[in-house]
Formats: sequence, structure tokens, C-alpha cells
Amino acid sequence: MKLGPLTNVLRPSPTLAVTMKAKALQKEGRDIIGFGAGEPDFDTPDNIKAAAIRAIQEGFTKYTPVGGIDELKDAVITKLRRDNGLEYKRSQIVVSTGAKHTLFNMAQVLFGQGDEVIIPAPYWVSYPDIVQLADATPVIVDAAEAEGFKLTPAKLKKAITARTKALILNSPSNPTGAAYTLDELKALAEVLAGTEIIVISDDIYEKIVYDGFRFANMANVSGEMKERTIVVNGLSKSHAMTGWRMGYAAGPDNVIAAMTEIQSQSTSNPTSIVQKASIEALLGDQSFIPKMVAEFKKRRDTIVAALNAVPGITCATPAGAFYVFPRVAALYGRKHRGKAITNSNEFSEFLLEEANVAVVAGGAFGNDECIRLSYATSMALIVEGTKRIARAVASLE
Ligand SMILES: *Cc1c(COP(=O)(O)O)cnc(C)c1O
Repeated sequence: MKLGPLTNVLRPSPTLAVTMKAKALQKEGRDIIGFGAGEPDFDTPDNIKAAAIRAIQEGFTKYTPVGGIDELKDAVITKLRRDNGLEYKRSQIVVSTGAKHTLFNMAQVLFGQGDEVIIPAPYWVSYPDIVQLADATPVIVDAAEAEGFKLTPAKLKKAITARTKALILNSPSNPTGAAYTLDELKALAEVLAGTEIIVISDDIYEKIVYDGFRFANMANVSGEMKERTIVVNGLSKSHAMTGWRMGYAAGPDNVIAAMTEIQSQSTSNPTSIVQKASIEALLGDQSFIPKMVAEFKKRRDTIVAALNAVPGITCATPAGAFYVFPRVAALYGRKHRGKAITNSNEFSEFLLEEANVAVVAGGAFGNDECIRLSYATSMALIVEGTKRIARAVASLE
């Protein structure tokens, strides 16, 4: 069957090869330790599950308003005021089927042919594709390891052209865990002053921060920046709800209205039951979060120390999220079974073959010098997995 032109934009996921190979090896009975997980390994809290069960039993199982029920929009408004110090009206909130869906709808209504969207690298794998599926052009700007994997004002300035429509910021970041302080955001905002560039703030890892880091986003910088920032968030990471599919955006009325319209012609409302559960997640007991974060912190400290102890690997300590993004390029040129390793893909394949450890190649995130490991897995597996990595690296010729 002949496919339409949009499919030309779709690329096979560069992360898929290693993931598929890891699965195949596991099926063969190989004992693979996976550091690929992009989701918390904690169960959704019971109070949230109970709210969903109650919604089913009470028959809350029909269509709802497309952009979410008022009660949920109000819960989002309360959350944004309580946690972020930001004020919004109902007409500035849209709820959708996961934050990825929110970002996709946003790109569809904001971008068009000729528009450039600045994406700092390392970036979340979906950003460039979501931009391209909206007919716009991703402009990748390298945020160097030496600069904490964060975009600098100078680099932002250099990347801006007359066609720049938006900047996507993700803090704390997937894949690096890097997070911008309010002062760093202010410095970036100064570069944006006098332009009409929109900031898309992907705050999905807001709650997962360490060492007293104070989360802020671009809307916190000033009233003017709030006007042109669209805040995207969801419950997947903060409340271990990846499978429930719940995301939301807060921003200008006209953008939110257009996003709701797109949704009305595609998915309609997010699942009614999930909306009720999300109200409980946003307004109910939040004590699950610090417990999860405390556990992640222990694992972060363990994995960072273990990786830095491997000659040839350097690993920065991330401020948030549940990933580390160690640099392995110092090992490129070394040989495994007589064959030199030359990039992050080959390094990941080497770890899979030699160490029985699955990681994601940094190339997938726009940085070929590094690999990504998720520490959303047990401490025992982190200890054993990093031992295996050390042994495998020591075996390189
Ligand atoms: C997980 C993730 C999302 C989206 O998650 P949803 O499950 O769609 O809500 C968005 N951005 C980043 C950077 C993520 O890692």
C-alpha cells in the first residue's frame, strides 16, 4: 500500500536496535541487566488507584469535555499556584492523553513550514520528530558537557534567526538530568527579550530533584516571560503513572483553544477514569513523592560513583530526573574482539555483548560521546550492572 508523505518524516527509533537486541537475548535466556527504562519502577500510589476504582464504580465512564473536566482543570490550576507560584484561568488549561500528546498537539497548532524550533542537545528523542511532523525545522544547539549540558545565552543568541518560532526547554532533562536555576533561566530570557520567541517548558521531571535544588521554569522569570511560555507537565514521572496517560498544558487562551480543537478531532477527552484519578494525584496526599525521590537519590549517588570509578568513563552528578549520561568517548578507538569501537551505538552494543548490560546510545539524544543509563531500577541491579561495565571496559584492548 502506498503511504502518505508524512511517513517520510518518521524515522525508526535509533534506540530500538539495542532494546530489541536486549529483548531477544533475554528470550534466549541471557541474564541482561537493563538500564533503558524511561519510567519510575515504583507502583502508582494506592490513593490514586482507589480514586480510579471509585470512578468506575460510580459510572464515571462516559465522554467528558474534550480538554478535561472543570474539576481537573481546577486541580491543575491549584497545583500550578501551590507548586510553581503561577496563576492561570480555566481557559488557559488543556488536559490530554500524556505530556507527549500535549507536546504533539502544541506543535501542530503553533508551527508550520519555515518555522525553526531551537532544541538544545542532548534532547529528549521525541522533540525533533514532533517538530518535523508539524512541518517545522528543528535547530539543534549543542549544550556541552563542560557547560553542564545546559544551553548558554551565547549559544542561544547565535541560533536565533528571523524564522525562530520557539525554544524547547526540558529541565530537569531527559537524558542528562541537568536542571536550570532561575538565574540561568533569567539569563536566557534576556536573550529572548525583544523577540517573539515562544518558550515551551517541559516540566515533567519537576518533582524529581536532589540536594535541595529549587525548581523553576521560564514562566517564573517575569510576567512578560509567563505570557509567552507554555508550561507542559503530567503525572507519568511525578506519580509513577506512565501507563495512565495524563498530561496538561498551561498557556495563552488562543493556543489552549486551538490545542483543544485538535484534540476534539483526534482523541477527544483523556480517559474519564484517569481524570478522576489525576485529581487525587494532584490534590491528595503527596508523601509518595519525597519517598520516591529519596530512593532515587541513593541510587544516583551509587551509580555516579561506580561509573566514575571506571577508567575512561566520566559521569556528571545530575540535579534531577532518574538518568545519568556518562561520557564514554575517551574509550573510542579501543578494541573489542579486534574491532575498534567508534561511536555510542557500537559502545552500547559492546556493553550488551560483553557485559550483558543494556544502555541507550547517546547518539539517539544528539550526543554521540555519551550513553544514557536509567537508574529507575533496583540498587542490587545498579551495583551488579556497574560491576559488569567495569569488567567489560577493563577487557578492552
Ligand atoms: C516521559 C517524558 C515525557 C512524556 O511523558 P508522558 O508519559 O507522555 O506524559 C515528556 N517529556 C520528557 C522529557 C519525558 O521524559
